[in-house]
Amino acid sequence: MSVKTIIEPQTTIPVYDECDVLVVGGGAAGHSAAVAAARAGCKNVILMERYGYCGGDVTGGFVLYVPNLSFYNMTYVRGIQEEWFTRLKKIPGAVSGPGPELAGSRSKNLMRNHPGATTRVKPEMLCHSFNVEPNQLKIEMDIMLNELSDSIRVMYHSWGCKPIMEGNVCKGVYFESKEGRKAVLAKIVIDATGDADICRLSGAPTTSSLDEQCRCGSTALVYRIGGFSLREYREWRRVNPELAKELTDGVAKIHGFRAMLGGGPTDDVSISPNWQPKMDCSTVADSTKTEMGTRLKIREVLDWYKECCPIIFHDAYLYDIAPQLGTRGSHRIVGEYIIDKNDWAFPKQHDDCIAWHCTVETLNDNAPIEIPYRSILTQKVDNLLAPGRHISADKIAIDNVNLIPQCVGTGQAAGVAAAVAVATGATTHTVDIKRVQDILAGEQDVPLPRNPHTPQEYTDCLVEHEYGLYTEPAKAAIAAGEAGAYRHWSITKGSGDPNKKPADTPHQ
Ligand SMILES: Cc1cc2nc3c(=O)[nH]c(=O)nc-3n(C[C@H](O)[C@H](O)[C@H](O)COP(=O)(O)OP(=O)(O)OC[C@H]3O[C@@H](n4cnc5c(N)ncnc54)[C@H](O)[C@@H]3O)c2cc1C
Repeated sequence: MSVKTIIEPQTTIPVYDECDVLVVGGGAAGHSAAVAAARAGCKNVILMERYGYCGGDVTGGFVLYVPNLSFYNMTYVRGIQEEWFTRLKKIPGAVSGPGPELAGSRSKNLMRNHPGATTRVKPEMLCHSFNVEPNQLKIEMDIMLNELSDSIRVMYHSWGCKPIMEGNVCKGVYFESKEGRKAVLAKIVIDATGDADICRLSGAPTTSSLDEQCRCGSTALVYRIGGFSLREYREWRRVNPELAKELTDGVAKIHGFRAMLGGGPTDDVSISPNWQPKMDCSTVADSTKTEMGTRLKIREVLDWYKECCPIIFHDAYLYDIAPQLGTRGSHRIVGEYIIDKNDWAFPKQHDDCIAWHCTVETLNDNAPIEIPYRSILTQKVDNLLAPGRHISADKIAIDNVNLIPQCVGTGQAAGVAAAVAVATGATTHTVDIKRVQDILAGEQDVPLPRNPHTPQEYTDCLVEHEYGLYTEPAKAAIAAGEAGAYRHWSITKGSGDPNKKPADTPHQ
């Protein structure tokens, strides 16, 4: 890359708007943050998004699977995440998957019908999880914003590019659009860009997983294939394992990276998620390579499916290509708390818990862990929060806490925290976290540990099932007093190789 530089002349920037809470990025986290802030009473919220719709990776990147919302029969992740499900259920073809009433079921029949929603740990059971139709979710997210139009102003096609700083306090954001460079001033800024775009330039410490060979250092351009039955294809793979391997190897050879076929809300249209290792979505070069490199091979891949398995794919066709590349991670904050393996190996209790996260981690048999407010709180900079996939977590834990439910949950909590901070004249570091928890648990349907608004049966379920920590590796870790036996799939199951997908993870 060129190191030649020029000096941009100093210019006067018009202030486009002013607000109490500015959310930059309208993905799972940012959309939830804006909605939650407005519902918590903030009347002056702006949601700024570089594209023309909300949902980010989910709607624009075709990441359609919302996994593991429950443990045994209890749904620990509710709030806005559950609202996606209940709202979309009313729309034909918009969502599929077992609802909360089926969580914990051990019916063999149901588990066969919902293979992706069956836990990969003992005892096997169904968990509440679902697939969404991305266009329907885009519409529903707009509806949710529209319902709050007295409190939220939406700015699509606006790219937040730099924080406005006064000392160590964030005061707003410069953004670029077809109207040129302008500024939005805000009392609290929520960076929900997923790549810590605003945090990175604020002086708050950040890190990245780009140098790591883990899932979070990979990009994807997901496309959908129609005209065949995924159910029949899966059965064909089960009966013909060798041919199935040949098929998958052939796809990887053509693409140059691993790709698979996965489910959407209906059987006749499948997504093809892929893993393009060592790709940095925050660079122009890697983003371009991801987009063009994938598209240039799709026809060849489709031909290969037809050639290798005509009985299933004879009528298959390219249904559509995700409008944006997806990434599982890039830059993330080093916040006031860093989530790491000990959060799974021990039933940690955080006084500032803002969400239970039912993870796909096997060490504690998919039991929920507590996400602390400090993990979305930037160090060194005030009035800047960072929910979503750039949450503060170590290079292993991030692969678990970047999932959609956690992004929605931390986004919702960030919105409420920002609203409370504004209403009480506090900062993000001094906000009354008990008040935040009470609003989340009491008014916004988010169960929280040790909160009087949350029924005791949530805690009872965890205690009864030993927080999932009855696995042999977990017992060994506890006996050793440390989490040495941490069994994260991308490290032990996938040997750190993003081209290998372990058999026991439902998410992609
Ligand atoms: C291929 C793939 C498969 C995955 N599989 C699963 C799975 O099966 N289940 C699961 O739960 N998770 C999965 N994940 C992870 C999950 O989808 C993401 O981590 C999660 O959706 C991220 O949500 P977010 O809101 O934090 O970030 P994003 O979805 O990235 O949202 C960020 C938003 O901010 C906008 N934005 C970015 N920069 C700016 C800026 N500077 N100014 C204005 N707007 C900006 C973006 O356009 C976007 O709308 C997968 C991810 C990928 C890519």
